[in-house]
Amino acid sequence: MIERTLAILKPDCVKKNLTGEVIARIEKAGFKILAMKKARLSKETAGGFYAVHKGRPFYDSLVEFMSSGPCVPIALEKENAIADYRTLIGATDPKDAAEGTIRKLYADNKGENIVHGSDSVENGKIEIAFFFSNQELIQNE
Ligand code: UDP
Ligand code: MG
Repeated sequence: MIERTLAILKPDCVKKNLTGEVIARIEKAGFKILAMKKARLSKETAGGFYAVHKGRPFYDSLVEFMSSGPCVPIALEKENAIADYRTLIGATDPKDAAEGTIRKLYADNKGENIVHGSDSVENGKIEIAFFFSNQELIQNE
C-alpha cells in the first residue's frame, strides 16, 4: 500500500548541518518528498505535536528541545512508508538502533535523536496535516 509519513529533521539535525545528508538518505531509500519546510516551533506548537506524550517524564525536555531551534518537517510518500521509514531511522535510542540507520549514525542520545517518524498510517495523516495544508501537498504531486 502507498502510505504517507511525516518526518521531522529535529533541531539537533539542523544545528549539526546534517539536513542534506539525512534528506539524501531518505531519497536514496526511495521516498518521494511531497512537501518540506523549515520551521521554528513555539513551545505551544511542539507541545501540541507531542501531546500524546504529555505526562511522560521526558515530555518537558522533549518540548524544550523541539522548540530550541529550527526544524525541517517533511511529508513523505512511498510503498509501505510507515514501516520502511522506521527501519531507515532505527530505534528511538541510538544505542539500540541498528548499524547504518540514521539515528545510529548521527544521534547523540535518546532525546536528541535527529529525526521524527510517524508510527502508523493514521498518525501519519494527522501529523502531515499538522504541518501542511492539502494545497501544499497537492501542488507538489
Ligand atoms: N524521548 C525521550 N526519552 C524517552 C523516550 C522518548 O527523550 O525515554 C523523546 C525522543 O526525542 C523521541 C520522542 O520523545 O524521539 C518521541 O518518543 P517516541 O517513543 O514516540 O519515539 P520515536 O517514535 O520518536 O522513536
Ligand atoms: Mg513516536
